[in-house]
Amino acid sequence: THFGFETVSEEEKGGKVYQVFESVAKKYDVMNDMMSLGIHRIWKDLLLWKMRPFPGTQLLDVAGGTGDIAFRFLNYVQAQHQRKEKRQLRAQQNLSWEEIAKKYQNEEDSLDGSHVMVCDINKEMLKIGKQKARARGYKAGVSSHPLPPKKKKTLLPSYLYFIVGFSEGPTDAVEESPVNGLAWVVGDAEELPFDDDKFDVYTIAFGIRNVTHIDQALQEAHRVLKPGGRFLCLEFSQVNNPLVSRLYDVYSFQVIPVLGEVIAGDWKSYQYLVESIRQFPSQEEFKEMIEDAGFQKVTYENLTSGIVAIHSGFKL
Ligand code: SAM
Repeated sequence: THFGFETVSEEEKGGKVYQVFESVAKKYDVMNDMMSLGIHRIWKDLLLWKMRPFPGTQLLDVAGGTGDIAFRFLNYVQAQHQRKEKRQLRAQQNLSWEEIAKKYQNEEDSLDGSHVMVCDINKEMLKIGKQKARARGYKAGVSSHPLPPKKKKTLLPSYLYFIVGFSEGPTDAVEESPVNGLAWVVGDAEELPFDDDKFDVYTIAFGIRNVTHIDQALQEAHRVLKPGGRFLCLEFSQVNNPLVSRLYDVYSFQVIPVLGEVIAGDWKSYQYLVESIRQFPSQEEFKEMIEDAGFQKVTYENLTSGIVAIHSGFKL
């Protein structure tokens, strides 16, 4: 198989990918903004808009890294909930919008039982995600809102959970409660540490091209989704506009590795990034792979002239 400009054995690729993300973890977010000129934020927002999670959605975000999709998901469901509540309040109690806004200033958000499990093979990436979670008011992988009495039951054996930098202990991260919306787990997309038919939605953003056996990861996605569940993948793809393609080539090969060296002191990792994008299957080829894994109604949508695409499929 390939790894950047090198040809490596399949066994070696996983280790090399691990090293790349271990090395970029601390600078990952800032580099994402710099390299995409902030556009990755819009692509990720679009993934959420496409998902349109319903109250109570159980999301698995694979290769979730520093939690960008997870935080968007939590924001989305909290905002949805508040909008619904406010509309009801206005209708029932005839309050003005100003009165409602005042009432909500100190009210707890609710996730309506929605939950996101962030799964990534790399502890360093998750560690950054957890630091971000804490800065946003989520403690030890769970909401900072007051928790109900502890439940003994956990979703997974506790050894699967890594709570880096928190003293509460692993099981806290998987405690279920109406406001407990976030958990982190170290796991391989090719061998997910979850039971069958468990999640409503599976997302993987800029992750699947790093996986050695993509077909295996797709089969795992199908296995862990409930019947009716949805697979959504945001990934770099093939540019369909000749002018954009030319500019994109120059930017990718001449600017990105230089930015990688200057900002993160890491030319090689960013060279790998560029090459891994080029070697990923085209939109149509990837669609076929998703169908081969058993998904139905598979579609894709190009964003920014196909620089990235969102593929969607259902387990029916
Ligand atoms: N989804 C995040 C985002 O959009 O910002 C992170 C994407 S980052 C480019 C790719 C992530 O894939 C890294 O965090 C890396 O550790 C993870 N990864 C690579 N191989 C993996 C595997 N086999 N299983 C799970 N995660 C993997």
